[in-house]
Amino acid sequence: MRQSYRLTAKQNKQHNTVVRVRDVNIGGDELVVMAGPCVVETREQVLEIAQILKNMGANILRGGAFKPRTSPYAFQGLAEEGLKYMAEARELTGMPIVTEVMDTRDLELICEYTDLIQIGSRNMQNFALLREAGLTNKPVLLKRGLSATIEEWMLAAEYILAGGNDQVILCERGIRTFETHTRNTLDISAIPAAKELSHLPVIVDPSHATGKWEMVNPLAKAAIAAGADGLLIEVHVNPEEALCDGAQSLTPKNFANLLEELRPVAQAVGRLS
Ligand code: PEP
Ligand code: MN
Repeated sequence: MRQSYRLTAKQNKQHNTVVRVRDVNIGGDELVVMAGPCVVETREQVLEIAQILKNMGANILRGGAFKPRTSPYAFQGLAEEGLKYMAEARELTGMPIVTEVMDTRDLELICEYTDLIQIGSRNMQNFALLREAGLTNKPVLLKRGLSATIEEWMLAAEYILAGGNDQVILCERGIRTFETHTRNTLDISAIPAAKELSHLPVIVDPSHATGKWEMVNPLAKAAIAAGADGLLIEVHVNPEEALCDGAQSLTPKNFANLLEELRPVAQAVGRLS
């Protein structure tokens, strides 16, 4: 038995965990698609994309209000104002929302608005943040660190579970390798590995994994074929004008195509989409 992550490990649980985010179940028969812009830019932008995504069949709306930007001069997000627009989009569409927390000092505020807390790749080993998230009653989307081994990822989840919060979703989002053609390298093998090691649901973010919108569809399909429980996809009404990650963002039309293309793959692996 792996003592190092005993709460996260599969062998200590009879059933896989199904994480509930309002009325959406992650880790059940149905595939879950979380979609939305990288960052909340304006109220109009979020309300418009939320309505479009809802009509297309997305399950959860994503949008960052506190952004981990590589440059301190890049747009950092609208903070609480952005959270308010996300909450308004939820009221408008009924879709639950997910947004990132970067700092323990913002956790309480973010919990007032969000349904699902995202801990991003850069914070996967922010142990203080993991501990605090473990004390909340909100489900947590835990992204794999950009240079984290699968064991380190499991141990990061363990910090949250050890605090009493077992509502954790694992998200593979690509790791840093020698390859520079893509932003990261999607580790497809992490999906069956995490599924074998843990009872937690596993989703995949092909947007950050590749950095290129053209590669999102093939990798999303590969992820579902490999057993992922869902996807996290960046979508923007006008990617060319996006304040963050436009190159990897799908237009609504491309997102509709993605959902269409996913259907037969989901069916082939016995999942509902
Ligand atoms: C994001 O999803 O907005 C994000 C910043 O992703 P990652 O932490 O995977 O880089
Ligand atoms: Mn992004």
